[in-house]
Amino acid sequence: MTRLEATVEPLDTEWARLYLGGKGLLFRYLFEELAPGTDALAPENPLILASGPFAGTAAATCSRLAVGCKSPATGTLLDSYVGGSFAPELKYAGYDVVVVTGRAPHPVLVLIEDERVDFLPAEGRFWGLETAALEQKVREEMGPWHKVLSTGPAGENLVPFACLSTDQYHKAGRGGGGAVMGSKNLKAVVVRGTGAVAVGDAGAFARDMLALQNERILTADNAWTYEEGTPFLVDLVNAAGALPTRNWRSGQFEEAGSIDSAQLLKVRTKIRACTQCPLACRQVHQFGEHVSEGPEFETLGLCGANCGVGDLAAIAAFNRACDEVGLDTMSTGAVVALAMDLCEKGAADYGLAFGDTAAYLAAPGLIAAREGWGAELALGARDLAALKGRPELAPHIKGLELPAYDPRGTFGMGLSYATSDRGACHMRAFTAADDILGGEAPADSLEGKPQLVADQQDFSALAWTGVWCANMYLDTDFIGAHLRHLWGRDVTQEEMMTTGARIWNLGRLLNLREGFGRDQDRLPAILDVPHPDGAAAGKTVSAEALRAALDEYYRLRGWDEDGVPTEETLARLSLDVRL
Ligand code: SF4
Repeated sequence: MTRLEATVEPLDTEWARLYLGGKGLLFRYLFEELAPGTDALAPENPLILASGPFAGTAAATCSRLAVGCKSPATGTLLDSYVGGSFAPELKYAGYDVVVVTGRAPHPVLVLIEDERVDFLPAEGRFWGLETAALEQKVREEMGPWHKVLSTGPAGENLVPFACLSTDQYHKAGRGGGGAVMGSKNLKAVVVRGTGAVAVGDAGAFARDMLALQNERILTADNAWTYEEGTPFLVDLVNAAGALPTRNWRSGQFEEAGSIDSAQLLKVRTKIRACTQCPLACRQVHQFGEHVSEGPEFETLGLCGANCGVGDLAAIAAFNRACDEVGLDTMSTGAVVALAMDLCEKGAADYGLAFGDTAAYLAAPGLIAAREGWGAELALGARDLAALKGRPELAPHIKGLELPAYDPRGTFGMGLSYATSDRGACHMRAFTAADDILGGEAPADSLEGKPQLVADQQDFSALAWTGVWCANMYLDTDFIGAHLRHLWGRDVTQEEMMTTGARIWNLGRLLNLREGFGRDQDRLPAILDVPHPDGAAAGKTVSAEALRAALDEYYRLRGWDEDGVPTEETLARLSLDVRL
């Protein structure tokens, strides 16, 4: 970006063999390109876009892009995922991975049209536009098939929880990728490809993919995706006492029935899909004159219950505002709820109050612009709570705000969050499925959870190479049926899980290199206070229980007691890097 130059190099086939694509390749490039200790907003922090090997093919749900860098929210590695249609277009243009380094001397938009790469001046033309307006302008000026991955005003202003946007409603939400794009004076990457993706024996591949679609994807187990989408979780998580309510004071929201999927279905107008996905989980709703996708479960939990807001139209408007300015709804909802709490406790005077939607609806715009009290909220929960002298009220791990599954109602998620590679994340090991959503594991115990968490993390690391979508039931049989075509032979379950473990351990090395070890694998103080009501009343994950679970987790992983992978573990996983 500094020299406004692009170079093209062949994919490192050894890296592709070891790390496949998506998350794995992203981590490998990040390990290579990121000098230890680099500031996340410095030009030297690479912003990496990595597709999976099946993007742009007949494989379903693989049209997803992995986006990564060092996170400005946490200082850890960041990998975040987005659907829509950008990743296939990147493949049609001929690229698997894009690595953006440096900082442009002035705002630009990078335009990739097959082998041609241009740097278009963005000042007065694209810079400053909200996400939907930007996409519309690009389509008008360049054509309807150009795909856009952009940062909004929040990212231009370096808000550490600014997201990246594509196809208007699709977000690589977590960890501040939008701020890293903004720090490079880069408004958007726009891509148009006219090529295709070769798949070897195309007939056999198409037959296998069709069979998987009929037998494994369009099944009763996955019907929830198009019937209700993620909002179906609201009632289940609330019943388990795990729905964060009023800055995590409770796990049960008395107005949950006003913001659940039954209410959303009343205003649903249609469903949409990412490219090449038969599940079409994207729920489109109409509130008054506004039609938009979402809110998803996490937004309903964190921008609804956690802010004491039971007004569905207000949550949808908050969601839209975040989408337009390019803010992660999860972190924004968490920060606004914290600010409401600070106001109630007399530690701040923002005019915010639980359940009051007036100032609440102004928050996304003020945060994105860093105006008025929005400038303080733009610090993120950890730094805002510290600024106000109430660090114990901040719901975060390693600087990333907690997702909408309260560990007091689902203990396994506590271990999952504490050991997640990018800070508090529910997408690495989703043990809530085992202890509150129909599984048989006890919700209020960490017994057996270290193995469950480690296995699920390894599996998710494998799945995010594809990049398969988490919104359907995945297993190694399903993934193996794809990899058979990639490697030209049958692939064992052990090979696949070893690949996942290799990627997870590479992520651990990256974080250790940035100074994150055992001391940071912990839960925030706000979770030490038991709920007064709900199904999880009186329960907390004790420090002793978490310590014992971490010991067991490290042992199972082949890490020492400080959480450092042993030489034997790295050799067993054929990891080709060392600290
Ligand atoms: S299930 Fe939903 S999010 Fe996942 S690929 Fe399909 S449409 Fe996209």
